[in-house]
Amino acid sequence: MENIKELIVKAAKILVKSKYAVCITGAGISAESGIPTFRGRDGLWRRFRVEDLATPEAFHRNPNLVWEWYRWRMHLVYSAKPNSGHLALVDLERMGILRCIVTQNVDGLHTIAGSKCVVELHGSIRRGRCVECNFKVVFDAPPEVVPPKCPKCGGLLRPDVVWFGEAIPSDALNKAMQLFSKADVALVIGTSGVVYPAGYFPHIVKEKGGAVIEVNIDESAITPIADVFIRGRAGEILPKIVEKIRLI
Ligand code: NAD
Ligand code: ZN
Repeated sequence: MENIKELIVKAAKILVKSKYAVCITGAGISAESGIPTFRGRDGLWRRFRVEDLATPEAFHRNPNLVWEWYRWRMHLVYSAKPNSGHLALVDLERMGILRCIVTQNVDGLHTIAGSKCVVELHGSIRRGRCVECNFKVVFDAPPEVVPPKCPKCGGLLRPDVVWFGEAIPSDALNKAMQLFSKADVALVIGTSGVVYPAGYFPHIVKEKGGAVIEVNIDESAITPIADVFIRGRAGEILPKIVEKIRLI
């Protein structure tokens, strides 16, 4: 068993040698910003039933309940700040090592941190979308009255996120597929890897002979194919990898 220090050196070397490193992030990278994950320890789904809250059927049945839940999550997200894990990924991009981040997160923290290339697979909790006319609204703050209404046609707004049973927007999916098809290194951070297609992207890299580097506090569905699995918090491990790279 290699220790954490050796694994960090190994990851840093792979990243420095890489030609096209791409990152996939999940809720784990935002956990240290105070935003609960879905499935991990203390995950949101331990307290709520997903089918009551994050499906189109749930919204149809009870838009108020769904919006109440989203408003609570929006409060968490709007008061959260990027953490040292998000910032380390900004550094990696500025160093010309990391080409892009594909995220399952809906919190927008990668962009706020300063990452330039970010593909949001699951939409954004900071936006609403009209169920009648598709008009999109960017919220400066969580809506005071729920459910919020469309400023254009008065229809019901829904959170502009991808719910269970819904398709990933095709532009985001195509961009992510392109990135991972080109990539020789997949950096996998804080995702359980069980949600499709995010769980599939690292396999594309692996099948072409590329390397998979994973950072997670627990093993995930990706861990069996990881060349380097570093058990630890993203906010602690990622800055250490960046620090090592600067010394190489
Ligand atoms: P998930 O909740 O299924 O898994 C989170 C993973 O992060 C777990 O494997 C856990 O071990 C790991 N983790 C927890 N804390 C960590 C830390 N400090 N450092 C490193 N790893 C840590 O999350 P997922 O895989 O992203 O699940 C997908 C769904 O969750 C997506 O649909 C996404 O939209 C949604 N989601 C988003 C947010 C957000 O935007 N911040 C929050 C919760 C859920
Ligand atoms: Zn409308």
